[in-house]
Amino acid sequence: MTDYLVAPPPVPAVPVHGGGFFPVRRIFCVGKNYADHVREMGGDPKDAPPVFFTKPADAVVTDGRVPFPQATDELHYEGELVVALKAGGRDIASREAAGALIFGQAAGCDLTRRDHQARAKSAGAPWDTAKAFDHSAPVAPIGRIEAFAPDLFDSARLVTRVNGETRQDGALADMIWTVPEIIIALSRQFELKAGDLIFTGTPEGVGPLKPGDETQVEIGPLPALRFTMDEPL
Ligand code: MN
Repeated sequence: MTDYLVAPPPVPAVPVHGGGFFPVRRIFCVGKNYADHVREMGGDPKDAPPVFFTKPADAVVTDGRVPFPQATDELHYEGELVVALKAGGRDIASREAAGALIFGQAAGCDLTRRDHQARAKSAGAPWDTAKAFDHSAPVAPIGRIEAFAPDLFDSARLVTRVNGETRQDGALADMIWTVPEIIIALSRQFELKAGDLIFTGTPEGVGPLKPGDETQVEIGPLPALRFTMDEPL
């Protein structure tokens, strides 16, 4: 047994629909993956490949309570499809091989300090404080791939509601890069492993959240994500 001199942190985990937990190793995220959202942020969707960034594994929130983060005046929701991997690899060669790595999928929210992101973009600085802050990755229970067939997602919509009002309503089919293409591209930059989560980007309609707001993200037949924005810790 390893002689740790400080207690090792617990393994972050996400409940799986039907029982059990998915242990989280890393959280990868894709920026600019829906053409309409790229346009709303002032970009051209054909201009460049998607941007990858990460969040720490312990940013996942699974109890539906998100404290409003410190050090921001502009917190935004980004409703997203989240993919959970049961295996990984480097330089994955085909869409079939990429698809075989998927354990399941979930509704998630890429919480973003938009004020930090705007400052980082204009300064050419990293996005960490904009994206990788504590409690920045609420995720719903994961639907196993064998229970929620991937072809359902060809017609599924991603709908984000805040206090019952629809704010985002996009088709997963409008992703610039599909899920297998994202896995292939990520595997050329990182060795992927079991336990990885991938946030696959958000459609248009992102906007602010404040304490007291109730957010819901629905994606086709997957378990819905619901969380409440609490007062700052
Ligand atoms: Mn995002």
